[in-house]
Amino acid sequence: MEAAIDLHIHSALSPCGDDDMTPNNIVNMAILNGLDAIAVTDHNSCDNVEAVMKSAGERILVIPGMEIQTREEVHLLCYFYDLYSLCSFRNQIESCYDGLANNPSFFGHQWIMNEMDEITGEKEQALLTSLSINFDDAVQLIRQCKGLPVPAHINKPSFSVLSQLGFLPPYLNLSLLEYSQNYPLNSSVCLPAKLIFSSDAHSLGQILERKMTISVEELNIKGILESLSKK
Ligand SMILES: [Zn+2]
Ligand SMILES: [Zn+2]
Repeated sequence: MEAAIDLHIHSALSPCGDDDMTPNNIVNMAILNGLDAIAVTDHNSCDNVEAVMKSAGERILVIPGMEIQTREEVHLLCYFYDLYSLCSFRNQIESCYDGLANNPSFFGHQWIMNEMDEITGEKEQALLTSLSINFDDAVQLIRQCKGLPVPAHINKPSFSVLSQLGFLPPYLNLSLLEYSQNYPLNSSVCLPAKLIFSSDAHSLGQILERKMTISVEELNIKGILESLSKK
């Protein structure tokens, strides 16, 4: 079957995400748009993913994920088979924080919410910063946690593997890349990797409709990740 996906959405935990990017609002908008699977990928953190999964229940599939920023200012998405693997990855990533506190009045709030959209806390560490881990090591760490590393918006002129490193390290054998619909794409530099696009939504109106589809054998996390991992 064909599954419509949007695997790059920011919640209100990301300082750049709107405050109304709550677990229920994201899930309901994704359902309204006819999507089959989404991922909430906040910057350097995943504290709202469990609430989004609970809010979704059986209504829509939520792939556990995150968007990290490596030492070289490369944005790297990662997707996991279960929440436990995502959290074990997050625990290791948190040791790479720079210790700088967020300034909400300048960068925006970093709300942590439950599945009722109630604010349960605010993340102190500034999330729009680079982690003290380089791109190669981050890819390895994601794989150690049985996750799928996916360089984000590779055709963006900033914060992408191509803008920051100038090339896609061939020895890492990255099989899947994400591109942005907002910038021109020279896909020849990315071959032989597979390409998907996502919304990188920071507001509700940006979440994709049924535009990006993949062929899956079964509509569950395993089915989506196996389809994405296929060369
Ligand atoms: Zn990004
Ligand atoms: Zn993003």
